[in-house]
Amino acid sequence: MSILVVGSVAYDTVETPFGKAESVLGGSASFFSVAAALFAPVNLVGIVGSDFGEKQLDAFRGRSIDLEGLERAEGKTFHWQGRYSYDLNSRDTIRTDLNVFEFFKPRIPANYRRSEIVFLGNIDPVLQLEVLEQVAKPRIVACDTMNFWISGKLAALEKTLARVDVLLINDAEARQLSGEWNIVKAARVIRAMGPRTLVIKKGEHGVLMFSEHGAFAAPGYPLESVFDPTGAGDTFAGGFIGHLAGAESENDQNLRRAVIMGSTLASFCVEAFSLDRLLTLTRREIDERFLHFKRLTHFENL
Ligand code: AMP
Repeated sequence: MSILVVGSVAYDTVETPFGKAESVLGGSASFFSVAAALFAPVNLVGIVGSDFGEKQLDAFRGRSIDLEGLERAEGKTFHWQGRYSYDLNSRDTIRTDLNVFEFFKPRIPANYRRSEIVFLGNIDPVLQLEVLEQVAKPRIVACDTMNFWISGKLAALEKTLARVDVLLINDAEARQLSGEWNIVKAARVIRAMGPRTLVIKKGEHGVLMFSEHGAFAAPGYPLESVFDPTGAGDTFAGGFIGHLAGAESENDQNLRRAVIMGSTLASFCVEAFSLDRLLTLTRREIDERFLHFKRLTHFENL
């Protein structure tokens, strides 16, 4: 079951209390694709500039990631720069150079139009809608967004959300989108906008999922070394959607397992800068940590 992802492919410059990485591979579609491709074939739609080298492309090659939809344009690749606070729980955007991303118009190759699952990365909701108009009815439409679009393009975002099955956002975005401070009330309001499943990410404090089956909570995996949280949200989405791609339905058990798989992959992502840790990840490491996750919250019949 193939997954279509549309989002940013970027160079990131990231400062954390533990170091700095200069112009390394980033972008929502990059993190998502590498994570999701561990489970199912991924069709990547995005744009890069002429400065995007073979070394960066190598991160995607040799994996189940199709690059026909990765457009190359004259100019520079999107560049984002961020700086994290001491506890790594908040970050400031220092610079966003859209470069070729400014004129990005997602064109979905004919081969991708029948992808069963679509993940709309955090881009302009107008473009997200244009993507949906180019694909045949997918089994699952999942979506990410951010404060910038909630405050700047709410009407367009509402149109997109009406066609979304799974929305993945953080707690501040859920409050802003719903106008409700209480997260349970916020979830009710947002689910009424369209997404039947809402996944609210809370950084190191884990994830809360609201679906037709009720609520499910997962903690963040307790890690001794957290290095760089960039991309954790997109990596979570890759693990979550990747797991659902291999599942027969979105029943309660599969959704819960998807949350734990997303959390497992995100916990690896933060252990190193950029996609460095994800690119060396083995199936065995994933399975071991997935099992640890189970033991972490299990309190009966151990
Ligand atoms: P996350 O930490 O999961 O929110 O994802 C961070 C990634 O999103 C970084 O690799 C950035 O390159 C990318 N990013 C940051 N700002 C934007 C933006 N305005 N549009 C698209 N992608 C962005």
